[in-house]
Amino acid sequence: MIKDNSSYIEKLHHPFWQKKRLEIFQRDSWRCQLCASSEDTLHVHHRYYDKKYPNPWDYPNESLITLCEICHFEETQALKEAENFLLKVLKMNFFAHEIKHIANGFSSMKLSDLPNGSSIAIESILRNHMNLIERFFEDLIKNSQNKASTSWIKEEKPILTVVE
Ligand SMILES: [Zn+2]
Repeated sequence: MIKDNSSYIEKLHHPFWQKKRLEIFQRDSWRCQLCASSEDTLHVHHRYYDKKYPNPWDYPNESLITLCEICHFEETQALKEAENFLLKVLKMNFFAHEIKHIANGFSSMKLSDLPNGSSIAIESILRNHMNLIERFFEDLIKNSQNKASTSWIKEEKPILTVVE
């Protein structure tokens, strides 16, 4: 939970949020959408926060998902780490305008596209910005030649050779 201030907690007791939660639980068949548990305490997880939605119940249903207490905690922790890692990798390899292009590719991806959502997004990036992807792989290959001693790159080498 990003916002653990008192007014936000008060809002979680609001009847509008209680109604929204029930809607999401119902849609998700009262099961955690990560581990399928129906035994543990269920939470409704906000997949993202946006200032344009001042109340927890203002969010579109697609942005909300049922998770058990344990998965909710783990997801919240893991997400922060994943966000930082992704941002670091993007900044290392791309300029701001290129990151924008990549983000646009992913923004065309909908949860309803799953399980192929990510490949649709990557396809769209590939189609529109082939040069970015080419440069990314060129850099990757260059790096792997420079740092051949790095173990994970060694493992990846046969794949990179095919790309070459
Ligand atoms: Zn779970």
